[in-house]
Order: sequence, then structure tokens, then C-alpha cells
Amino acid sequence: MANVKNDWWETTLEFNWHTANLLIMATTSFTKKSLGTETIEPAVTPPPSTGNASFAKKPRLSSSKSKKREIPEGLWTKCPKCSTMVFDKELDENLKVCTHCHYHFPISARERIHSLVETCTFEEMDAEMTSVDVLNFTGASSYPSKLEKYRKSTGLKDAVITGIGKIGEHRSALGVMDFTFLGGSMGSVVGEKLTRLIENATGKELPIILISTSGGARMYEGMFSLMQMAKTCAALAYHAQARLPYISVLTDPTMAGVMASFATVGDIILAEPGAMIGFAGPRVIKDTTQAELPPGFQTAEFLLDHGLIDSIVPRKEMKPRLIDYLNYLSAGQNPG
Ligand SMILES: [Zn+2]
Repeated sequence: MANVKNDWWETTLEFNWHTANLLIMATTSFTKKSLGTETIEPAVTPPPSTGNASFAKKPRLSSSKSKKREIPEGLWTKCPKCSTMVFDKELDENLKVCTHCHYHFPISARERIHSLVETCTFEEMDAEMTSVDVLNFTGASSYPSKLEKYRKSTGLKDAVITGIGKIGEHRSALGVMDFTFLGGSMGSVVGEKLTRLIENATGKELPIILISTSGGARMYEGMFSLMQMAKTCAALAYHAQARLPYISVLTDPTMAGVMASFATVGDIILAEPGAMIGFAGPRVIKDTTQAELPPGFQTAEFLLDHGLIDSIVPRKEMKPRLIDYLNYLSAGQNPG
């Protein structure tokens, strides 16, 4: 009986297993089938998810498309003032000035030197001079790593290029700042290169033209940056004592420590149209004085009206205007 019982038990077990398997198969096939047939239903349930996905995807697709449309192979640049798409080649030929509204785009120091100096006459000075991390500055990233990053991205060693070249008939000492290198900030290298240029010009009796664009003194070098303000001005004072001309050109933006030192002591101070020029930023002044600032505050046009600068000169006219001034200021002297 026991055997029978066992047999029965085993058979029932087998049967049960069998039925269970069948059931499982049935259910799986059922679910499979139901999944297959209910393909429309999931479309009803997932809408939120698929809807979300399509919602999330759509803007991405459209934005990437519009980006592609805006910058097709880097041929066009959108003017921030008039929103016109300007052909890059046209922009380069026009010295980075918008052909529609005459907005002055930022221009690199090398491009600017190229636009002013007679071909193959520019001899660069102190091209290899680099900054030292005197304060062992620590922050989100170290000062040396920041310098390295900017050297790679700009191809410059620091924020100014100095040298002697011919502008028209005049051999001139030329210092041009570049905003793309750490915001054109003045550290010990900028100050030292400018001072050497000025002293060289004094020794050789050459006029000086300094073209500024800067956010001010470089905080990573602390007091050493601030000292450059006095140093450059002292060198310029000796240059002035020698009765030699210094023309300062302010471009967008020229602020803070640079504006408060060598940039504003020129015999003639010129500015590019629309350039932002000042010491502290407008927000800081507004918060400190609690007064409403007048329209156009800290623009070249505003400062021309208030007597701080002598003339606003569009970029394309800069070279002939500089030659005119140099002719005038060096009248009766031998042009280099
Ligand atoms: Zn424009």
C-alpha cells in the first residue's frame, strides 16, 4: 500500500509538476500573448513615460537642430547687438566689426597688432616672460594650473604683447593687451613687460601706444599686481619728462587697476565705440551709492561727453588716426 501510496503520491506529484509546468507555460504563453496583443494597451499606459521621453527628447532635438542651424561649420557668428548672423570671413575682413550695426567684437592682441603695424616691422619684446606663483595661491584650482590652461587656450604667455614696430612712418613702442588671457588682468608680467617697453621707448626716444582691455589687477598675485600700477605710471612719468608722446587706447572693457593707472595718463586718450570703461563695476557703484545710474554710464560715449577721453575712434579708422596724431605730436622731430 505504501508503495501504491507512494506511487500515487509520486504520480500526483508528477501530475502536479506537470500541471504546474503546464500552468506556468500557459500563463507565460498567456502573458506573452497578452503582451503581444496588448501592444496597443501599453501605448495607453506608458504615455506618461513615453510622453515624457518624447517631451524630453523633442526640445533636445529641436535645440540641437537650431544650434546646428546657428553655427553651420563655424562659418557664422551672431552679433550680440543686432542679432544678425555675420559671415565669419566678412567679420575678419572688417577687423571683427559687425557689418550691420558696427558692434566691435573682441579682437586678439595679435590680430590688433597686425591691423596697426606695417608688415614685418614688429619686433616683440620679452615674449617668454612668465608669472610665478609668489603667494602659493590656492583656490578651486592653483594659480600655476590656471596659467597653464590659459597658455594652452590662447597661445599667449601672459595678457600683454609688447614690442617695437612701424605705424606709418613712425617707429613706435606698442603694448597690446588680450582679454582672453585671464580677463586681461595685470599681474607682475603685464606690469614688467609694459615698464620695460616704456623704458626702452624713453631710451630710444620713441612714442608709446598702449591698447588696453582688462578686468583690472590680477588677484592671484595680490600686492605684486597692485605695485604694477605705480611702476608703469612712474616709467610713463620719465617718458613724459623726455617730452615724448603717449597715446592710450581704451577698448572693451577697460576697468579697475588698469584704468586707474597707465590707461588714463595718456597725452591723448582714445576709445573704441561702445567700450565699457570704468573703475568699479556699475552694480557695485549702484549698491554702494544707492543711486540710479544715468543711461549709458561707463560707456566710451558717456565718458567722451564728460571729458575723460578725447575721441572715439572706430577700429577701421584707428591706424590712420594714430598716424595723424603721431604726425602732429612729433612735428619738428625726426620720425624714428
Ligand atoms: Zn551687429
